[in-house]
Amino acid sequence: MGRKLVAGNWKMNGTNADLKEIEALGIAWAAPRVDIVICPPATLVSRMAFALGGQPIRVGGQDCHAEESGAHTGDISAEMLKDAGARYVIVGHSERRADHHETDEMVRAKAEAAHKAGLTAIICLGESLEQREAGETLDVVGRQLAASLPDGATASNTVVAYEPIWAIGTGKVPSVEQIAEVHGALRAGLAERFAGEADGIRLLYGGSVKPDNAAEIFGVENVDGALVGGASLKSTDFSPIVSAL
Ligand code: 13P
Repeated sequence: MGRKLVAGNWKMNGTNADLKEIEALGIAWAAPRVDIVICPPATLVSRMAFALGGQPIRVGGQDCHAEESGAHTGDISAEMLKDAGARYVIVGHSERRADHHETDEMVRAKAEAAHKAGLTAIICLGESLEQREAGETLDVVGRQLAASLPDGATASNTVVAYEPIWAIGTGKVPSVEQIAEVHGALRAGLAERFAGEADGIRLLYGGSVKPDNAAEIFGVENVDGALVGGASLKSTDFSPIVSAL
């Protein structure tokens, strides 16, 4: 197991004025024990990477196109993110799967593009409330894991984020038993397919992670960090979450 990881997903939030949050984080985390990544909207990737300079906090994109370049108005390639200073990119977030009809196959192609560009892909998966209530959670995440991860996934180029859709932005968090069950199943799924790499592929939990629940979540077996939405926007919320890991 490599270093643990806390990633912030700013979603469609943030303008130049919010770069002050990054400056505060940079001061607080000049030599972090864990990996820290912030994924701002694409408009801020370059500015944020520049603002962080040689500091250890990394910048990520929130999505990339599966192709390197071409006639895809409004899209951004993994190479472009890399060129702008990103080291990571989130792919397959449930909001993109829902809003942009992204399938596991598309997510896998995006993760492959990220790998080709030299980015680490943070591949998201997770069940809906209906699927959980129908007892389908492990089947759903197992299928998503199998179909969304490229064959070339390694501990250094891939991170998996389990984000139950019903926990995102709702203040509802699964019990530690529920998180342990899913993360255990994901680890077993990785071991079956990636053998020696499986233990090193970091498994993040995401969905209503806050300063007051982070320590409990980080205590769960096979939780190697968190993907944080709302609480990543302010350094005063994000810093205590990093401290809890
Ligand atoms: P919240 O932390 O706001 O629930 O969002 C989680 C998420 O979707 C991170 O990608």
